[in-house]
Amino acid sequence: MTTYPDLQLYIAGTWRTSKDTLPVLNPADESVIGALPVASQGDLDDALEAAVRGHRIWSATAPAKRAEIILKAAALMRQRTEEIAHSITMEHGKPIAQARLEVQRGCEFFEWDAAEGVRAYGRVIPSGPDIRYIVMHQPIGAVAAFAPWNFPMSQPARKIAGALAAGCAIILKASEETPAGAIHIARAFHDAGLPAGVLNLVFGVPADISSYLIPQAPIRLVAFTGSTAVGKHLSEIAARSIKPVLMELGGHAPVIVCDDVDPVAAAELSVMRKARNAGQVCTSPTRFFVHKDRYKAFLDAFVERAKTIRMGEGFAESTQMGPVANHRRVEALDTLVNDARAKGAKVLAGGMRPTGRGYFYPLTVAAELPDDARAMSEEPFGPLALINPVDSLDAAIERANSLPFGLAAYAFTHSARNAHILGERIEAGNLSINTLEASVAETPFGGVKESGYGREGGLEGLHHYMAVKNISHRMVL
Ligand code: NAD
Repeated sequence: MTTYPDLQLYIAGTWRTSKDTLPVLNPADESVIGALPVASQGDLDDALEAAVRGHRIWSATAPAKRAEIILKAAALMRQRTEEIAHSITMEHGKPIAQARLEVQRGCEFFEWDAAEGVRAYGRVIPSGPDIRYIVMHQPIGAVAAFAPWNFPMSQPARKIAGALAAGCAIILKASEETPAGAIHIARAFHDAGLPAGVLNLVFGVPADISSYLIPQAPIRLVAFTGSTAVGKHLSEIAARSIKPVLMELGGHAPVIVCDDVDPVAAAELSVMRKARNAGQVCTSPTRFFVHKDRYKAFLDAFVERAKTIRMGEGFAESTQMGPVANHRRVEALDTLVNDARAKGAKVLAGGMRPTGRGYFYPLTVAAELPDDARAMSEEPFGPLALINPVDSLDAAIERANSLPFGLAAYAFTHSARNAHILGERIEAGNLSINTLEASVAETPFGGVKESGYGREGGLEGLHHYMAVKNISHRMVL
C-alpha cells in the first residue's frame, strides 16, 4: 500500500509510459526511487486533441454533475491519505505529518472549488422593456498549467480544482522532481469517473513543454506557480497569442513585530512556521522587522527555539524539518548565508550544511543584515530567517514594501490602529495579523507586483478560468 507509485503520463483517460525517462530522487538520501516517462511531441499533440474533446464534454456537463465527480475524487484522495502522504515524503522529504496535512489541504481546494462551480452566477442587467442584457460566465477553454515541486499534491490540486470546477479541460505539467502527488490526483479522478481528456498529465523538459503547448490554438489560459523569472518568460510566450495568464510567483514575506506584543510568543510561532516545508513556501515568513523595544527578547527566543528544531528524514517520528527538495536549494542557501556573513550579518543558528548524504540545510537565523546582503532581496526559498530591528511601524512598512515582491505579509500587534495602518499600506495580496497562515481554501490567494496576478481559492478562484459573455437580446425585431 505504501510503495512509491508507478510513474506514468495520463493522456485521454489512459496511462502511458515512454522510452525516455528521468530519475526521481529521494532528497533525504539521494537514492533513485522512480523513472519518470518524458512526453514526446506526439504525446503532447495527443493531450491537446484529448483536451479539446474533453473540454467539449465537460463544459456541457451540468455543474452539479461536475461537482459530484470532483467531490468523489476528493473523497477517494482523503481515503488514500496515507498512501499519498507516503509518496510525498519519499519524493519531497517533508515530515510525514506535514505530508498528511498537505493531502487534506489539497482535498479542501477541490471541495471548495467544486462548491463554487455550482454558484458561478451570471446576472441580468436592468434594461428597457424590450431588451434584456444577460451576463454569462462560461468555461474559458482548455488550460495549460504548470505546478512546482514544493507541494507535490496541493500545488497541482489548486490548478486542477480551478479548471475542473469552472468546466474547463486541463493539461497539467507537474514537477518532474515530485511527480507522484499529481499522479495520485489523476488516479482518483480516473476512479471517480471523470470523462477521458478532461484531465491530462504530462512530464518532460519544462521549457520544451511550455513553449510547445502555450501557443497552441486550443489553449485558452496559462496557469503557472513558480519563480518570478519563469513566470515572466511564460507570460511573454502567452502574450504573443494574447492568452490570459494566472501567475502565482515568488515572494519574500515580511513579518512586522510591533511593540505591543509578547515577543517570545511571536518568536515561537514564527520558528515553527519558518521550519514548515523547510521554508520552501512562497509565503514563508522571512524578513522579520522587529520594533527595537522588543528586538532582543524576540531574537533571543527565536534563536533558542530555532536550535531545537529536529532536522531529519521525513518518516522519523521525531523529525520536525526534512531536507530541502533538491541540491539547487542547498547551494542557493549556502550562497546567501555566506554572502550575508561576509557583509557583516550575525549568523546565530544553523548556517552550515551538514556532511553526509541528502539535501539537508539547518534552520538558519541571520540578524542585523545590511540592505545589500543578497538574502534581503533574493527569495531564499528555504529555512532561512532574517531578523532586523526597526524604530517604528512606518519604518517597518517602508522596508516591507521595498522589494518588487508582494505575495504574503504578516504582522504581530494587538493595536487596532496598527492593524488599520498595515491593512491600508502593506503591498501584498495577503496580510495576516497574529497568524502566519497566509491562505485557506475559502480565501483568495495571489500576489501583487512581481508576485503575480490572478487569485486562487475564495470566491475569486474560478474567475480566471471563466470568460464573461454579455448577451443583448431584443424581444422584437
Ligand atoms: P526554477 O525557476 O527553474 O523553476 C521554478 C518552477 O518552474 C519549477 O517547478 C520548474 O519546473 C518550472 N519551470 C522552470 N522553467 C520552466 C519553463 N520554461 N516552462 C515551464 N515551467 C518551468 O527554479 P527551481 O530551482 O525549480 O525553484 C526555485 C525557485 O522557484 C525559488 O526560488 C522560488 O522562487 C520558486 N518557486 C516558487 C514556488 C511558489 O510556490 N511560488 C514553488 C516552487 C519554486
